[in-house]
Formats: sequence, C-alpha cells, structure tokens
Amino acid sequence: MENVILLLLGASTYHKGIDIGAAEGSNLIAICDGVISFTGFLGGGGYTITLSVNNMKITYCHVSPNFIVQSGNIVKKGQIIGFVGPKNVYGVPGNQYKDSNGNPTNGSTTGPHLHLGVRVDGKYINPLVLFEK
Ligand SMILES: [Zn+2]
Repeated sequence: MENVILLLLGASTYHKGIDIGAAEGSNLIAICDGVISFTGFLGGGGYTITLSVNNMKITYCHVSPNFIVQSGNIVKKGQIIGFVGPKNVYGVPGNQYKDSNGNPTNGSTTGPHLHLGVRVDGKYINPLVLFEK
C-alpha cells in the first residue's frame, strides 16, 4: 500500500483541510514528530486520529477503526499511524451520516479518502503550507 501523504499533489482545494483520494487500507504517516491526542469517532470526520505538536493539531479523518496508535503515544515523522478507512462503518452509536442506500458512513464521506486538517492555536490553516520547502 502507498503512503497517502505522498499523494498530496492530487489533493483537492482547501476546506478546513484537504481531501486526498486514496484506497482503503493505504498507510497514513505522521507528518511531523508529535503526540497522539485523540483516536475515535468524531461526527462528520468519522473515525479520526489527531496528532498534536506544540500549538498545532493535525487531524486525519475517515480513517480505519483498526487503530494502531492511541492517545498519549509519541510518534516520529514518517511513522505509520493508521490506515485509510472504509466508506461504510457499522455499529457506531450516534452516527448520523448515511449514504444514498441508507448505510451508515465513516462520517461525512462519499468514498475512501483522507481528510487532513491542520489547526494552529485552534484556527484552521492550509495543510499544504507544511509541505512547502
Ligand atoms: Zn475533506
């Protein structure tokens, strides 16, 4: 499986983050050293992993519920921290998101992809600035 972050050139435009089309099961890697501060289901984000570093929070949304990290884990840049999730997830209490067939979805999503959001001091920034060098 490919590493999703390497597919950034195919990313959509900014909307509190970017969407990166990728196959279910593709690796999600830490874009910087940091601490995992959340893993769980988060409304429209579906299954979500949050990576925190200083005043920055990086959220990976619509991920696989098979988490390989948990809150408090220290991770290194480039480390695999999870996987792109499925479109449909079942048995999540309170999940209000459904597809056109009425099947529950992994948050607000129409198919497997990564939504990458970055907040600095609580305000969303365009994640692509992190990749400009
Ligand atoms: Zn998105």
